[in-house]
Amino acid sequence: MKSKIISLYVIALGAATPLLAQYSDKPPDVSPMPMKPEMTEIWEPQVKIITPGKSLGEAPSDAIILFDGKTLDQWVSQKDPSKPAPWKIVNNDHMEVVPGSGGIQTKMQFGDCQLHIEFSAPDVVESVGQGRGNSGVFFQNRYELQILDSYNNRTYRNGQAGSIYKDHAPLVNAMRGPLEWNTYDVIYTAPRFRADGSLDAPARITVLHNGVLIQNNVTINGLTLYVGLHTYPAAHGEDVISLQDHGNKTQFRNIWLRKL
Ligand code: MG
Repeated sequence: MKSKIISLYVIALGAATPLLAQYSDKPPDVSPMPMKPEMTEIWEPQVKIITPGKSLGEAPSDAIILFDGKTLDQWVSQKDPSKPAPWKIVNNDHMEVVPGSGGIQTKMQFGDCQLHIEFSAPDVVESVGQGRGNSGVFFQNRYELQILDSYNNRTYRNGQAGSIYKDHAPLVNAMRGPLEWNTYDVIYTAPRFRADGSLDAPARITVLHNGVLIQNNVTINGLTLYVGLHTYPAAHGEDVISLQDHGNKTQFRNIWLRKL
């Protein structure tokens, strides 16, 4: 009987040993596995391969060509979208605003995107301030990145070339002379709306003008208005990109876009 009791005691002590170890002075060995380089490598899915343009400004292989200098078939009239874009093609090289004909807009609709667009002020300098080479790129047909001949042409700072019209002035004036071409390279993030239609996150925009950063991921504070303060319109989804007819013979070429 006595030996049986001793045996039970030994078994019980053996079972309790791991528990006792938890309370010993020696810390348990919980060191993680040593890190190896491959443990932080992500392989799948493979990053999509595209072919970049041969030079800066040339469309990469995954871009949608909105204007190649030869045809306006990606564009329609803003006054009547069932009609062709009323602007004129010049020398199979660029298009020119036909003043009074109204703006033009893309057939396709877009939200987040990367846009490249080249523009030139009218060759003949006429008027001053907002009357000189005025046009604009409207993202989602609502939010304007201003185009203006801002070369030696003072106007309000939040209305000059590269401004988000009456919202953000550009960081610098990188405008070239009226006989030269300018480029805008834009990263545009569309606004987000909640299911109830309220604004969740405003639009954001980054712009390089002739390769120079002029808008650094700024918040677009609402609809572009000539008079009044910015507010957000009703919830909306993707929409057209439009180019403004502001009564000046502003010229455009090489327009392409990547959906983001
Ligand atoms: Mg404008």
